[in-house]
Amino acid sequence: MAAQPDVMDKLVSLCKRRGFIFQSSEIYGGAGSVWDYGPLGVELKRNIKDRWWNSMVRSRDDIEGLDAAILMHPKVWEASGHVSGFVDPLVDCKTCKGRFRADKLQDARCPQKPSKQPGQHDACQLTEARQFNLMFKTAMGPLEDSASIAYLRPETAQGIFVNFLNVQQSMRQKVPFGIAQIGKAFRNEITPGNFIFRTREFEQMEMQFFVEPGSDMEWFETWKEARLQWHLDLGLSRDRLNFHQHAGSELAHYARAAFDVEFDFGGTLGFQEIEGIHNRGDFDLTQHQQFSGKKLEYYDQLNNKRYIPYVIETSVGADRVTLAAMVNAYREEAVEGETEGRVVLGLHPSIAPIKVGVFPLTKKEGQPEFAKRVIGDLRSSFTVDYDESGSIGKRYRRQDEVGTPYCITVDGDSAGDDSVTVRDRDTLQQDRVNTSQLVGYLAQRLR
Ligand code: ATP
Repeated sequence: MAAQPDVMDKLVSLCKRRGFIFQSSEIYGGAGSVWDYGPLGVELKRNIKDRWWNSMVRSRDDIEGLDAAILMHPKVWEASGHVSGFVDPLVDCKTCKGRFRADKLQDARCPQKPSKQPGQHDACQLTEARQFNLMFKTAMGPLEDSASIAYLRPETAQGIFVNFLNVQQSMRQKVPFGIAQIGKAFRNEITPGNFIFRTREFEQMEMQFFVEPGSDMEWFETWKEARLQWHLDLGLSRDRLNFHQHAGSELAHYARAAFDVEFDFGGTLGFQEIEGIHNRGDFDLTQHQQFSGKKLEYYDQLNNKRYIPYVIETSVGADRVTLAAMVNAYREEAVEGETEGRVVLGLHPSIAPIKVGVFPLTKKEGQPEFAKRVIGDLRSSFTVDYDESGSIGKRYRRQDEVGTPYCITVDGDSAGDDSVTVRDRDTLQQDRVNTSQLVGYLAQRLR
């Protein structure tokens, strides 16, 4: 199979130019590997998060939503194993002063000789690996002593575990059921990079599904398939998606099974994890029961038995999926009869930041006013962008590049026949549609 092209540099530039993603604190020279979502980026990421929330929470009776705080009791992170074990092996190069993850050297480039990995160039002098904890530490309250330590959460999952009984009892849920949340997580990554692929501040969409021990592997398979399907429904190509099974030392000591969903980002980055699906057994609830001294058992009324449920976890990065969706959608193509080609972000219509572009053909004959009336009708249903500057071809190109699925043009005939021309981003087909039919026409296609 041919390798997927490397479109990362082009995407980074498109994202800045068109208001998707900016480097954080850019006017100060930028903060390392931290990114801000601009007007179109925030819409794109929000649409992706909405799709996840709708499929995981709103469309099901057996999953409840949660929004837990980022700051938690410090003991949470002792119980979860993060204080002692959330570490990456760090190596330094005494020659170039570079820092690398010892377990990811194959993905890194020697700063002095980028054609080689760190350690492969004659001048490299790598130190022994030492363990580096990835949690950001801070202090709660005005005193900075050991009693005030707080951590920025490195994952959202622990907020779910500690609220397991609160949610189960308040919502009268019966096992099997799940709890889902979307929120920020922070990791002091040794080697962040590849744009928004690996950053120190990111958003996770996590779901913990609590099941009766013994039924866990069946649920694990169910969730594995459901999550792959979600990525396909988002429009990611099947041939760019893969399952990677954790085996041997890769499998965490408490995990009964783990698979990553991988996406092919193209170029040298290639296939990388975008989501983890884990069978965590009863590790987390048992740990929290022990450290908190509070019983976290579930009482199965029907069978009159108590047990600590097993947990199937699905954990996906909102930023990584946003990047995957853009990489997947980016294409450059020739246009028949035109010398200039076009760049298209062929995003799934449901996640496109702008759904409809509306243009008057000219600024005369009341066309702008007509176009604005059309926008007034559409705005409550779709995100709309009005553009009256430049040739129609240029305006189409601008919308293609940001993934707008439909463009509407008001022309000299519109006032007479109360109709407009609707152009499809992908097929380039143009339909004449009466304005009274527009909302229905678009809704049907954008669903
Ligand atoms: P990696 O091996 O890439 O560091 P991980 O196995 O530590 O990832 P998990 O702890 O399983 O990742 O996190 C679940 C998901 O959260 C990942 O699949 C990814 O989408 C996202 N994620 C994790 N770390 C980062 C990060 N630094 N930047 C952006 N997204 C991240």
